[in-house]
Amino acid sequence: MKVVALGTSGTYPRYRRACSGFLFEDDPTFVLVDVGTGVCSNLFRHLDPFSLTAILITHLHADHVLDIYPIKYYLKYNKKDMERKIPVYIPEGGEDVLMSFKWGNEEGEYLREVYEFHNIGNTLTIGRFRFSFKKTKHVIPTYALVCESGEKRAGYTSDTSWDDELIEFFKGCEVLISEAAYQGEEGKENLHMTAMEAGRLASLVGASRLYLTHIWPELDPSISLQEAKKEFSGSVEILKEHLIIEV
Ligand SMILES: [Zn+2]
Ligand SMILES: [Zn+2]
Repeated sequence: MKVVALGTSGTYPRYRRACSGFLFEDDPTFVLVDVGTGVCSNLFRHLDPFSLTAILITHLHADHVLDIYPIKYYLKYNKKDMERKIPVYIPEGGEDVLMSFKWGNEEGEYLREVYEFHNIGNTLTIGRFRFSFKKTKHVIPTYALVCESGEKRAGYTSDTSWDDELIEFFKGCEVLISEAAYQGEEGKENLHMTAMEAGRLASLVGASRLYLTHIWPELDPSISLQEAKKEFSGSVEILKEHLIIEV
């Protein structure tokens, strides 16, 4: 399987940096995980959105969800003979949040023209993938995930502060995509981790490769890289848009 980084900027986008989004692919299964600002544009370099098997939203912060709207416009106005709606898996209550962005007589139904919404449970099978989920320590309900295809296994923290329970959850993941919003020793409770904590997590999990994402846009990522390396002896990379991780 492959994971294509479509958006790696923490909290807000910058020039040529999009907010969070990852395309998990194992042809013919294509799952878009998170749809932050800029992800729709970057997705077109790799895949026609009509080919998406499903969309998965880890939480309802704007930097993980806003491009669900432009993708909807593409699907709606180019649909021709679109025979199916694209399933969107979302934390409980998330559908109401998305529907509340409306005006006039659209009455909140317009997203349902192209999407069908489902709540995220503990596990989910989508095509060739099996996803497992665990709630993280973040200000709103947020899910970390493990994606498996055959023997391959990759983990994504989404947004979280340090949580011992994530060690067990990610056990067996060769690849860990971890948020590393901050630098220094400790992150902020119920919010985000530091690059050092991301490195420690990768070590304790026994991962071989760590990819840092969601770094605060004003920080120097080369320092985050050094800090993660203090805690993790495996391979560490700063994720960038369009980088493809082979799992
Ligand atoms: Zn975020
Ligand atoms: Zn968040």
